[in-house]
Amino acid sequence: MAGSGRPGGKTGVGLVSSPSAGAHDTGPAHPERPERLAAILERLEAEGLAGELAFEEAGAAPVEALTRVHPHAYLERIAAEIEEGRPWIDSPDVPVSPASYRAALDAAGAAIEGTRRVLRGEWSSAFVLTRPPGHHAERDRAMGFCLLNNVVIAAQAARAEAEGGVSRVAIVDWDVHHGNGTQHLTEEDGELFYASLHQFPHYPGTGSADERGRGAGEGTVLNCPEPPGSGGAQWLADFEGRVLPALEAFAPDLILISAGFDAHRLDPLSETLLEARDYARMTAGLAEVAARTCGGRMVSLLEGGYSLEGLAASAAAHVATLIEWSGGR
Ligand SMILES: [Zn+2]
Repeated sequence: MAGSGRPGGKTGVGLVSSPSAGAHDTGPAHPERPERLAAILERLEAEGLAGELAFEEAGAAPVEALTRVHPHAYLERIAAEIEEGRPWIDSPDVPVSPASYRAALDAAGAAIEGTRRVLRGEWSSAFVLTRPPGHHAERDRAMGFCLLNNVVIAAQAARAEAEGGVSRVAIVDWDVHHGNGTQHLTEEDGELFYASLHQFPHYPGTGSADERGRGAGEGTVLNCPEPPGSGGAQWLADFEGRVLPALEAFAPDLILISAGFDAHRLDPLSETLLEARDYARMTAGLAEVAARTCGGRMVSLLEGGYSLEGLAASAAAHVATLIEWSGGR
C-alpha cells in the first residue's frame, strides 16, 4: 500500500483514504454519494485540521484479509455480478457501478492500513474514509449500501498482524443504524466486543437490547436502542453510563469505531437529533478509556452520514477530538 506523502502528521493522527472511493457510483440522487468524502476533507481543511493529520492512501486489501470474514464464494460472486453490469447486489439498497468492487477492496485496504499504522505505533489514532461503508454487510450478503464489512476485516487483520498484533478488539458503532453485519460476525467470538447505539425501531430492524452475544461471546454485545426523536442527552447518558463502563470492563487491546454520522439532527435518514459536539464528547469518552486500556489506540472508520453539512461538521468535531487527545493541540 503506497503512501501519498502529503505533509502533516505532527500530531500522530492519520487519515487514510483510497483513490477509488469516489468512483463507486451509486446513481443519481443516492444519499451515499462521493460528495460525502469531499465535504469531510473540505471541512477538515477549513477548520485547520488537515495540516495536523498524516495523509495516506491505501490500495486493495489482500485476499487473505477478506476471507477471514467473507467466504471466497461471496467475493467471487459480487465481483462477477459487478463485472456483468448488475445495477445492485443482493437487494436494490446496494447499488453498484463497474468500479464498485475495486472501491470495496480499497475501502477494506484503507481500514487495514490505518489499523496497522496504529498498531505499529506510527500513529496514535486514525480516521479512515471508507466508501462503500461496511457495517450492514453480512458474511455472505450485501446490505444497506455495504458490500464488505470493513470494520470486522480490520479487527481480524489486527489480530493476525505479526508486528504489534492484538487479541481483544472492541468495536463501538455510533452510526444511527444498527450494525447487523458487525454484530453477527463478532457475537460468538468471545474476544471481540461490539457496542452499538442506534435509532430503534429503524433499519435494519436488529439491535434490540436482549441481543447480547452468543455461545463463547455471551455478554460481548451491548445494544443501546434509542427511540426516534432522541438527542444528545439521551445518547450520551447511554454512551457514558453503559457503553464506556462495559468497554473498560472488556479491556480491549484496540478500539475500532464504526463512525457513522447519520444520527446528526440534519440527517435525512434518521429522526435522531445529535449535534456535532455530541460526537466530540463520545470521541473524548472513548479516548479516555483507550488511554487507560490500550495505549490510546483507536481507529475510526466512516460508515453513514448523509447530510453533507451534518456529516462534515460531525466528522470534523470527531477528528479535532482525536487530535486533542493525541497531544497535538
Ligand atoms: Zn447508518
